[in-house]
Amino acid sequence: MTYDYDLFVIGGGSGGVRAARMAAQTGARVASAEEHRFGGTCVIRGCVPKKLMVYASAFSEAFEDAAGFGWTVGERSFDWSAFMAAKNAEIARLEGIYARNLEGAGVELHRTRATVAGPHSVRLEDHGREVTAKHILIAVGGAPFVPDFPGSQHAITSNELFELQTMPRRVVIVGGGYIASEFAGILNGLGAQVTQLYRGARILRGFDGETAQFVQDEMIRKGVEIRLNADVAAIEKPEVGGLVALLDSGERIEADAVLYATGRWPNTTGLGLETAGVELGPKGEVKVDRYSATSCPSIHAVGDVTDRVALTPVAIREGAAFVRTVFEGEPTAADHEQIPTAVFTQPEIGTCGESEEAAAARETVEIYRAAFRPTLHTLSGRDEKMLMKLVVSKSSRKVLGCHVVGHAAGEMIQLAGVAIKMGATKEDFDRTVAVHPTAAEELVTMR
Ligand code: FAD
Ligand code: NDP
Repeated sequence: MTYDYDLFVIGGGSGGVRAARMAAQTGARVASAEEHRFGGTCVIRGCVPKKLMVYASAFSEAFEDAAGFGWTVGERSFDWSAFMAAKNAEIARLEGIYARNLEGAGVELHRTRATVAGPHSVRLEDHGREVTAKHILIAVGGAPFVPDFPGSQHAITSNELFELQTMPRRVVIVGGGYIASEFAGILNGLGAQVTQLYRGARILRGFDGETAQFVQDEMIRKGVEIRLNADVAAIEKPEVGGLVALLDSGERIEADAVLYATGRWPNTTGLGLETAGVELGPKGEVKVDRYSATSCPSIHAVGDVTDRVALTPVAIREGAAFVRTVFEGEPTAADHEQIPTAVFTQPEIGTCGESEEAAAARETVEIYRAAFRPTLHTLSGRDEKMLMKLVVSKSSRKVLGCHVVGHAAGEMIQLAGVAIKMGATKEDFDRTVAVHPTAAEELVTMR
């Protein structure tokens, strides 16, 4: 049997791009279809524009802090349109690089929606034709999930927020996860009045409890109004004025935007996976084994569509492991253990390994922590602390978890993550000489 391609990748995001490029570099004939913009969620409406917004919003505190160091900072204001134009230009530049790199590697690009028409068949929706491939990779990512309730059509998600023409001055944010908490900080820093509603008792469920509490307390101190055990019952849009979020408590909150960040669901609706017998899970996620193989031998899936760990570097690793397994004859399972991650809340979290709760449920642990005022804030006068915490196995002495809250926590955890991945013990941390004066030195001086 001959096929048009050795590999057809549906989805030009983090996982799909890595897999397509790597496979093409092995000499395989590869094509990729993208229905929106090459680069995918991370580049176009995720990590990258989000991080640019985090930088934009952090200036408001930097201006204030500068005064303690002798600076006089004059009149200041934030121009949303100017920022958006600069952000859009940068995203377009990156999109171009992604597409050019794919083409440079020899990948044939199809700028269209594609669906599965059989175990070896892909339908190019715009072109109205079918192509065949020996292997198909599903890398279609996910999309924001918004629950169904009266007025839910008035809610926006992170997708729309990145495109708003004017800055919303009063924002209700629903959710307590990564996106809700990051945007609460961003919009608060930019000067909006932010109310974050979370249905549970503490935001950032699943993270180390003390760490999540610390961040929640700091966010409140910075001005985010966090309402716990709260939810929206309806959104009303009066003839004049903005929106009204009607809470389940009966309270009404006026807002210019109601941002839903209540999770993301796999993009498998209408993808035709049933034509190839690909098994899906309850959220529509593609079920895969350790090698990202689906229940159809010619079809694999990587990234958010598999609902494993929804992070860009993980999607990239899964894409690379797929190519090694299928095109380089080296069966490689993507490693999902001890993944370092940052939440770009304000203050920021860097975390790797287990929470105190998860580790303590299995074995006896020792906890080392330091909560301190970083040197920056001795002169800035800002009453803000950093938190560092190590969760250590009492028997093996291994560092099971490392949790950092504060400036550059994401940068720190990348490096601490190397040590944890190598199986470092608390004594290995202790033997490491401190870098002074830094905040990170606390990680090796905690007793
Ligand atoms: P995606 O990047 O979503 O790519 C899938 C692509 O497939 C999309 O471009 C889509 O248009 C396309 N597509 C879908 N269906 C079809 C079809 N039928 N035909 C053709 N094309 C199709 N992760 C981090 O690690 N760090 C962060 O700071 C971070 N911040 C984030 C902030 C936000 C607001 C969001 C939403 C996500 C963030 N993430 C972050 C998560 C990260 O973006 C995702 O985990 C990552 O993009 C997943 O890559 P993927 O390849 O699985 O899917
Ligand atoms: P998350 O799963 O992180 O958070 C979803 C939040 O919405 C949770 O607080 C959840 O509550 C709440 N929720 C879910 N359903 C409802 C509902 N019906 N009504 C009210 N609240 C609800 O998803 P996000 O959308 O924030 O982000 C998606 C993923 O993208 C993240 O999990 C992460 O993997 C990735 N991401 C990574 C970033 C980074 O690396 N910095 C940044 C942004 C996203 P509960 O906890 O009670 O279930």
